[in-house]
Amino acid sequence: MELSITPSEQLKAKPDDAKLGFGTLFTDHMFNMDYSIDGGWHAPRIEPYGSIEMDPATMFLHYGQGVFEGLKAYRADSGQIQLFRPQENFKRLNRSCRRLCIPEVDEDFALESLKQLIALEKDWVPGASETSLYIRPTIIAMDPFLGVRAAHTYRYFIILSPVGAYYPEGFNPVKILVTSDYVRAVRGGVGEAKTPGNYAASLLAGEKAHAAGYTQVLWLDGVEQKYLEEVGAMNIFFVIDDEIITPELNGSILPGITRKSVIALAKHWNEKVTERKISIDEIMDAHAAGRLKEVFGAGTAAVISPVGEIKYGDRVISINDNQTGPVAQKYYTAITNIQYGRAEDPLGWIVPVE
Ligand SMILES: *Cc1c(COP(=O)(O)O)cnc(C)c1O
Repeated sequence: MELSITPSEQLKAKPDDAKLGFGTLFTDHMFNMDYSIDGGWHAPRIEPYGSIEMDPATMFLHYGQGVFEGLKAYRADSGQIQLFRPQENFKRLNRSCRRLCIPEVDEDFALESLKQLIALEKDWVPGASETSLYIRPTIIAMDPFLGVRAAHTYRYFIILSPVGAYYPEGFNPVKILVTSDYVRAVRGGVGEAKTPGNYAASLLAGEKAHAAGYTQVLWLDGVEQKYLEEVGAMNIFFVIDDEIITPELNGSILPGITRKSVIALAKHWNEKVTERKISIDEIMDAHAAGRLKEVFGAGTAAVISPVGEIKYGDRVISINDNQTGPVAQKYYTAITNIQYGRAEDPLGWIVPVE
């Protein structure tokens, strides 16, 4: 497929790297590609960033048939712009597509066109410490039709957004609330797909958690409400004695690439890491016995997010005196050092853009 490039005639002013937030600014260009039954995926193009015109009957708007990804480009100290395991994101995009009845994209072509988009936008990759260019590939159903079925036409697009350091003042352990009132996903549902509806389904519990002074919800399984699943935009890890434990993938947990990277590094370092079912009662008991050393989340946005407090029913536990523990710190440093080219890349995770 021939990728066409239409440069923007008016470039935006670049923001101050030191003042970047998350997800409010977008670069000058975007990638677009369309799907039809006769033409398959066609007309891949990089063009000026702009609105997508939609009929009010567009299927995505009514039935949520869509998928997305989230990854980042990093500016290494050498000046090189690099991606972290992007092939994993396109593999997961296609897994999400299969679950949502969306035609898959060619993973090699998707990576190649992403690299071209970032190469064109390279001046937008910020250089200040721990900043990055957030990348959002998305596919949505485009037929103007109100009947319920899989769409026949789709739009795949990628937008880019320069983002600031997640921890400008250093690690800040978060407080999370275990909810028994709501579930995020159930067995056989779409929990393991990166699809917008999962986020819509989690908002109410999230708002109630915020109102109670908690940053995030820690979700229990949707069947027995007994086993820990994830935090909604992050996977979750527990350190009990000297073992690192994370819930095993069960169909309702999103298979995070940061999660996979923590597990791979732990194995590479010969540390004890286990994927298994783990119940909230086991965590509470381990805490009571003084064996719960650390809890942390893992996801692209924050990489590692230490958890300082968990509330479950009437019980509130404080973890590692509400301080970042050595395990969370070690994985955060190791992964970010690879991402920013400050350390060796022992497992071959880095893909340079040019
Ligand atoms: C994206 C996401 C994660 C984290 O995945 P990463 O690939 O590590 O960024 C975890 N949970 C949910 C629900 C997600 O959407």
